[in-house]
Amino acid sequence: MRIAVVGGGAAGMTAAYLLDKAHDITVFEKEPILGGNIRTLNKNVHCDSLDSRITLDNGVVEFQRDYFPNFHKLMHKLQVPLEDTPISSELFLPDGHYYKSTGAIRYGCTTKQERIFESFKLASTLIPYLYFLAKMTFASPDSLRHRPVSDYLGNSISGRWLKMLLMYAYSMPYKKIDDFPAEIAIPLLAHSGMHTKWERIVGGVYSYIEMILMQFSGSIHCNANITRVNRDSAGVQIKLANGEQHHFDKIIFATTPDQVLALLTDPSENEIKRFKDWKLNEIDTVIHTDTSIYKHFGVTYFSEFDVFQNDDKGNCGYNAYLDRLCGLDTEDDINYCLSYNMEQRIDPEKILNRQHHRSPSYNVEAIRYRQEILHTNGANNTYHAGAYLFEGLHEGAITSGFAVAELLGGLQW
Ligand SMILES: Cc1cc2nc3c(=O)[nH]c(=O)nc-3n(C[C@H](O)[C@H](O)[C@H](O)COP(=O)(O)OP(=O)(O)OC[C@H]3O[C@@H](n4cnc5c(N)ncnc54)[C@H](O)[C@@H]3O)c2cc1C
Repeated sequence: MRIAVVGGGAAGMTAAYLLDKAHDITVFEKEPILGGNIRTLNKNVHCDSLDSRITLDNGVVEFQRDYFPNFHKLMHKLQVPLEDTPISSELFLPDGHYYKSTGAIRYGCTTKQERIFESFKLASTLIPYLYFLAKMTFASPDSLRHRPVSDYLGNSISGRWLKMLLMYAYSMPYKKIDDFPAEIAIPLLAHSGMHTKWERIVGGVYSYIEMILMQFSGSIHCNANITRVNRDSAGVQIKLANGEQHHFDKIIFATTPDQVLALLTDPSENEIKRFKDWKLNEIDTVIHTDTSIYKHFGVTYFSEFDVFQNDDKGNCGYNAYLDRLCGLDTEDDINYCLSYNMEQRIDPEKILNRQHHRSPSYNVEAIRYRQEILHTNGANNTYHAGAYLFEGLHEGAITSGFAVAELLGGLQW
C-alpha cells in the first residue's frame, strides 16, 4: 500500500519506520528538519556558537526508565544507547525563598548542617503533599476523567511546585495548568517521585531518528506545505502549495491534533467533534550559559528540574541544568542550561540557541474524545498518531506509532 505520514516527529517517524518494510511510505514534514520537538544541537539543529563535538538538546531531553516500555523497545531495536541521569528539583519563589527536593538535598548540600536545614524546610511543605498523595492513591482512573488539575492541586508550596513540574513536562504556560486534564497529570505525578529513574539518549535525542533514517527506504519531503487532504473511494489525495498532487491508499496524521481539521477538506461530523477543541500551544525554549539567575538566591547547585515563580501573577518558568542531563564534562567552566520563560532574568549575550515549539494545548475538553480517535483509527483510510493520544510524552508518541503500525500490518517484535 502507498501510505502518507503527515508529520515527521517522534510518532510519525516511529510509524514510518515500522511500516517501511511492508509498505511504500512517504513522510511529509512541514518544517525544514525532522524530529518535531526533538531539537538536538549539532544534529538536526545547526548551531555555530557551540563546539561541534557537543550535542545539547533544546527540546525533548529525558525519559522515565521504568514507565516508558515502548520507548525502550524501540531504542533496543535501534541499538540506541541510554544512560541514567540523576534528577532533582528546586523551587524558587519571587520573595527570594527556595526549597530543595530530596535529590537536590542529597546531591547539592555540602555540609551536614545545610542538609538538616534544607530537610526541615522541605518537611514544612509536606502536609498538603501527603494529603495530595492520599487523594491520588484512592483516585480510580474513572474518577480522574473530565476533571482539571485544579481539583487536586491548590496553591500551597507543594501544589505550586507540582503544577510547575507539569508546566515543565508539557511545556505549557503555568497559567493553563489549572485546566490541565487530571487523567494525564495525576498518573504522571504518581510515578514521578524521589525513586523514579530517568534516562537520556547518549549523543542526543535525535540520534534515534538518525538510526531510523539509516534504515528507512521510503521518501521524505521536508518543507512540505500541504494545502488540502481529501478522501474518496479511491483513497487519499494530498495537494501541496507548489501544485503537486499525490495519491495514497492511507494517510496517517502524525501532526499536532489542531492540524487535522485544518488540512481535511471533507471532515465527517465525528471528526469535527473529536478534533475541534484541540488548539496549538506555542512556546520558545532557549539554551544559555547564564547561571547568575541563581545568585539572587545564594544557590550554587543547579538541578535538572528547577522551577521559578517569577512573580505573584502566575508568571513561571523553568531552568534545567543540561550539563548533567546531556552528560557533559561538568569540570568545564561553562554551564549549559535549557530554559523556558526565564528571559527576563537571562543575559541575552549568553543565549546560544532559541527554538520555537508547537505542541498540543491540553485541557479537559480537548482530550474528551481521545478514546474514540483510537477506537476508530483507520476509518475512511485515515489514521492518527501523536503523543496527545496517550500520556503526552515520548512514550505516548512512540506507543501511538506502534498502534498505527499494528493496524496496518507493520513490523512487530
Ligand atoms: C519543549 C518540549 C520538551 C519536551 N521534552 C520532553 C521530554 O524531555 N521527554 C518526554 O518524554 N517528552 C517531552 N516532550 C513532549 C513531546 O512533545 C513528546 O515527547 C514527543 O516528542 C511528541 O512527539 P509527536 O510526534 O507526538 O509530536 P511532534 O513532535 O509535535 O511532531 C509533530 C510533527 O508534525 C509536524 N507538522 C505539524 N503540522 C504539519 C503539517 N500541516 N504538515 C506536515 N507536518 C506537520 C511538526 O512540524 C512536527 O514535526 C516535550 C515537548 C516539548 C514541546
